[in-house]
Amino acid sequence: MNEQLHGIIEPVIDADAITFWEGVAARRLLVPTCLGCGTAFLPPLPCCPTCQSEMIEHVEAEGTGQLYSWVVMRRALDPAYADAVPYVVAAVELTERARIFSRLVNIDIDDPLALVAGMALRLVFVDINGRAMWAFEPAGSP
Ligand SMILES: [Zn+2]
Repeated sequence: MNEQLHGIIEPVIDADAITFWEGVAARRLLVPTCLGCGTAFLPPLPCCPTCQSEMIEHVEAEGTGQLYSWVVMRRALDPAYADAVPYVVAAVELTERARIFSRLVNIDIDDPLALVAGMALRLVFVDINGRAMWAFEPAGSP
């Protein structure tokens, strides 16, 4: 499914995040990963949050993860999201162990059993207001 989504606030892209956002534009999720200790982390930072090494490479995510937590947004907290509600914002733990906030798509938002902590998710890219963005959907989606 390639539905048109709404609701985005343009990201502030600083020097640490350029590679990450170039990846997103190319529909690739590039995860900063420490060459010193192997920690994968998000958001992009100037150094590793575990060992403070500045030796970082960007590794393309496998595209799988688990639902860590979520919230159903039913009221737009910013006018940019007026056409987006209701939608789900989730904290997703990637297989690489980094956590990323993400939209969840291809779910029945009104089914209280649709979302379960730990459920398997997979990465998809969607268009939000014409911009490529990452999202996740249940791993079993058709
Ligand atoms: Zn490190």
